[in-house]
Amino acid sequence: MKRRAFLKGTAVATGALALSACHRPKEQDAVSGAMINRGRVETLKLATSWPAHFPIMGTGVDRFAKRCEALSGGSLKISVYAKNILVPALQVFDACSAAQIDAFHSGVYYWKGKNPAFSIFGGMPLGFLSEEMLTWFKFGGGYALWRELYGKFNLYPLVGGTTGPQMGGWFKKKITRLEDLKGLKMRIPGLGGEVMKKLGVNPVLLPAGEIYTALERGTIDATEWVGPALDKMMGFYKAAPYYYKGWHEPGSILELTFNKKRWEKLSEEHRAIITAAAEEMTATMLQEFRYENAKALREMPKSVEICDFPETFYKAAHDALAEVLEEQSAKSADFKRVLESYNAFYTLNKPYDDISTKHLLEIR
Ligand code: CA
Repeated sequence: MKRRAFLKGTAVATGALALSACHRPKEQDAVSGAMINRGRVETLKLATSWPAHFPIMGTGVDRFAKRCEALSGGSLKISVYAKNILVPALQVFDACSAAQIDAFHSGVYYWKGKNPAFSIFGGMPLGFLSEEMLTWFKFGGGYALWRELYGKFNLYPLVGGTTGPQMGGWFKKKITRLEDLKGLKMRIPGLGGEVMKKLGVNPVLLPAGEIYTALERGTIDATEWVGPALDKMMGFYKAAPYYYKGWHEPGSILELTFNKKRWEKLSEEHRAIITAAAEEMTATMLQEFRYENAKALREMPKSVEICDFPETFYKAAHDALAEVLEEQSAKSADFKRVLESYNAFYTLNKPYDDISTKHLLEIR
């Protein structure tokens, strides 16, 4: 019934659009879709991979929806659905591709099975920080590639937040030598997981709700999650006291992705509002993560020990990553092409970053 009502609504809206187009000058008519919304109310269904109002990520998308409504004078309503309400958490990509939902908010690395290249859009171990990722998307060709490859799934992606540097994770035992990693079971997704595998770790994927119990019972020996704020909330410190500095997710990207056909049907005004609100959401989320992480670190129980991996680990991780990237490039032409674009910006940016950001962080 709901679907029928929705279809009817679309037909009416399209009719109204065709009528108003008659009164517009020719050059405006040549642009696809409607330009000015003229008060027509659009309602979009957006599903997330997070529990309702999940701190920072979930509240970020709630705020985004409110901003769209405010900026559009109430003509753009985005209904946000927590995970598993409309579709299971990790089926949002397929559901949006098939137009069962209009949009989703999730993490890009979940979809590497669709195309291995997607993992690079989510972030690179030992690679770009959030600000560099955002610069690569906007100025270094990242967005063009992401949209081209998502376009094949009838999807249109926008960055929908970024986490800033993530921590290396919680370990039940200290890692003092590279050998200590051998045979460990660790919850770690994405390219970071592939690197760990090469170092002898057995990477596993667990839904958020199962990680703490698995760690407590010793089903897994270690887990990464995000950073102090969200990690503290999950209580991992009670089961694994060694908290390692980060390396595998220096600037992970969250996505705000739309069904492409639906996106193209939106008025130019609504598309501009969504784009601006997504930019605002991304900036705010990065700031909120920084503030909340700093605060949570200060309030971390005394039993927590902040640790650094041994020097040999970083050397080995760099070598393992190079192998992983080479293997993926040999398997996937898309991966190779995205990696080349990523590397081109890395090469351009590094000399400047070394004499600016890196220098300033060291001297201040
Ligand atoms: Ca993580």
